[in-house]
Amino acid sequence: MRRTSRMKRRRGDIFRELHRAMDQIEKPQTTSVPFAVDEAGFIDRQCPGTQCRGHFKILEADWYEKVSDDQVYCPFCHHGADADAWHTEEQLRHLGEAVNADMHRHVDREIGAAVRRSRPTRIGPIKLTTRYRSGAIPPVRPAEATALRQEFSCDECDCRYASLGSSFFCPACGHDAVLANFPNTLETIRKGVRALPALQQTFAERHGADDAVDWGRYMLELQLERLVGAFEKFSKTLFERLPAAAGIRLERGVFQRIDDASKLWKRATGKGYEDLLTPADLQRLKLYFERRHKRVHTDGVVDRKYINVSRDPTYQEGQRLVIRAEDVLEFVDLIEKLANGLRALVR
Ligand SMILES: [Zn+2]
Ligand SMILES: [Zn+2]
Repeated sequence: MRRTSRMKRRRGDIFRELHRAMDQIEKPQTTSVPFAVDEAGFIDRQCPGTQCRGHFKILEADWYEKVSDDQVYCPFCHHGADADAWHTEEQLRHLGEAVNADMHRHVDREIGAAVRRSRPTRIGPIKLTTRYRSGAIPPVRPAEATALRQEFSCDECDCRYASLGSSFFCPACGHDAVLANFPNTLETIRKGVRALPALQQTFAERHGADDAVDWGRYMLELQLERLVGAFEKFSKTLFERLPAAAGIRLERGVFQRIDDASKLWKRATGKGYEDLLTPADLQRLKLYFERRHKRVHTDGVVDRKYINVSRDPTYQEGQRLVIRAEDVLEFVDLIEKLANGLRALVR
């Protein structure tokens, strides 16, 4: 009889202690998991937008100081969400493992303490041992390889971020990154044109030589539109930064028209395109703008207006323009020269 009552008391002790341990375990815990930072000080982020899921990086200091907790923008699609929504899949996995490991350590600690408090651990034939094995907190994984190395700095808020390929918006303020991105666009067009023969070869192997020729021609012609489109957006954004621009109403498509745009810049800054380019360069630029215009409006067929404006001696009315790789490359150089001159006017 005596033995039974003693056992009961001891069993009561351990169960009471375990009960206490469970109360402790159920209390909310905070686990702090550090982010991996790459060697340049950037952390990885991923767009939560289901159509996008784009990866980018942001300078760690800027993430904490410049980005608002309530609203972060995707540099690719401008999706907005609060600051907790931007973990990469890899970071979420790591976060899950770290929290899980921390929870195991916590349970282990409390159960271990309960068992120690209810000494002796040997009660009759029953032996109590702690069965929980501590999970180790996983080490911080290295940030993604520094492949995302196109770095940008926002014109508006100075936030520094990086992406693989072009970004279009600042993650901190959502501002359109057209100015920061413009040199990359030019470089991408150059690289694409230089890589075209090799790409055409691959195309020919898969789809035949005829289609490869058509596709190559189309890709070159397309670059004229791309260049004018990018330059138009760049010019407009830059122009609007001029204090004098506040009182000037911008006509639609004005930056697609060389003479009109030049006059506009002259009015606002005292300098037009003729002050930034040689007469020969300006004439070549006009020719390429005009070729792009014909490509869009007459499917590349030369008319009287083209000959008058471009003063291109190589074509007659009714002919179709042929856009060569060297034309596109020259056009990129001219646009770059002019864009650099315009930037200097705004600084
Ligand atoms: Zn996005
Ligand atoms: Zn910004």
